[in-house]
Amino acid sequence: MRYISTRGGIEPLQFQDAVMMGLARDGGLLLPQTLPTVDTEVLDRWQHLPYQYLAREILSLFIDDIPQADLEDLIERAYASFAHPQVTPVTKRGDVYILELFHGPTLAFKDVALQLLGNLFEYVLARTGGFMNILGATSGDTGSAAIAGVRGKNKINIFILHPHGRTSPIQALQMTTVLDPNVFNIAVRGTFDDAQSIVKAIFNDLDFRDRYRLGAVNSINWARVLAQVVYYVYAYLKLRKLGSGSVDFSVPTGNFGDIFAGYVAKTLLPAGCIHTLILATNANDILARFVSQGDYSRGQVQATSSPSMDIQIASNFERYLYYLRGEDGAAVKADMEGFAATGKLDLSAFTARVAQDFRSRAVSEEETIATIGAFHREHGYLLDPHTAVGVKAALDLREPSRPVVCLATAHPAKFGEAVTRAIGSEPPLPLALADLANRESRCVVLDAEVETVKEFVARNGLQ
Ligand SMILES: *Cc1c(COP(=O)(O)O)cnc(C)c1O
Repeated sequence: MRYISTRGGIEPLQFQDAVMMGLARDGGLLLPQTLPTVDTEVLDRWQHLPYQYLAREILSLFIDDIPQADLEDLIERAYASFAHPQVTPVTKRGDVYILELFHGPTLAFKDVALQLLGNLFEYVLARTGGFMNILGATSGDTGSAAIAGVRGKNKINIFILHPHGRTSPIQALQMTTVLDPNVFNIAVRGTFDDAQSIVKAIFNDLDFRDRYRLGAVNSINWARVLAQVVYYVYAYLKLRKLGSGSVDFSVPTGNFGDIFAGYVAKTLLPAGCIHTLILATNANDILARFVSQGDYSRGQVQATSSPSMDIQIASNFERYLYYLRGEDGAAVKADMEGFAATGKLDLSAFTARVAQDFRSRAVSEEETIATIGAFHREHGYLLDPHTAVGVKAALDLREPSRPVVCLATAHPAKFGEAVTRAIGSEPPLPLALADLANRESRCVVLDAEVETVKEFVARNGLQ
């Protein structure tokens, strides 16, 4: 399998090179040259596989430059850190199935991909003799999952910027209590946007970027999407075993990475196995407007109780656009340049095609809190606010004849304030977080200035 760019401007790459490149050099996103498919006989074989074995089968369809035994070892180690033996278990509550993706070390679904990505980076660097310095900005979830994915790894240092005093206390502690010597937490005196623009400015200094071999861990990395394909198939097979040939998935969506993995899974499986992907957004509804009207136009970012979905430009959207545009890289390039210039893209010509893949629903703040409360009362099950957005959309859009699986993207204890508003009391902290406040922590506080951060990276970076 070779990898190409959505903008058509690079020579095909091997998987390992695609992982290390992250963003394609022509500004596009990397995709496999063809999307693989499997038939029902393969599903019969996969039906009873444990998560790790299924992951090996699926990843092998996309990776041909890592020997089987090595791939098995990478997968085994990635998911050994999960607290549940099934890695991503499925449970039924009322009219919906819940796919629990929060059993990893930082209690959010991003662990599923980042635990594997950390091992992949280390594996490739060991074989090429290189090193990397990962640099990123976070408003909360991504930073802790990325740190957990690479802590203690050889030849990798990680620098994560967060806005000083502006993440939730739990989110900050999840990052700063990781004391491995390759982990550097930087609290900047400023907002998340300040942190983000510092990181962008440093990446744009190409000399600095090459000298320190800066690496990114945001969700545009193909390996992150690929790792997420596995749990869609895993959940589908569980329902197939119960007699359902066709299911829907409801996905709380921000950057379109998770639901794009669902699209890859839908394409991989025989037609109709995954019938509809329900795209659930909070008040930041650019993607819901795209699905319903073909209107992809940027709005103002609104702060909600599901902050990991407070996004107006979905960085993975370009991948789906590539298929809408009939795999025409030049057309995608023109679209994205137009969007960068005007903040708008009119895709209304495609709404019929889009409706074959997605339905969508934007869920308000009141509905989110009400859904957490009602689900807790009726089923004794606590949803985090991101998951609640997906559950609300599923309850509204589901077809009674077809089961719907809701992706549970975070543990409710990570978002205690919203949960308290919904049910009147704090959600209990799981063991992994219980003593967080008593642990030793390490973090530097820096002014929100590009030069100050660069100096810190230069002093502490591998080279
Ligand atoms: C990142 C995140 C999302 C959104 O996922 P995308 O891949 O960006 O669409 C949803 N819920 C939680 C808890 C997250 O951390």
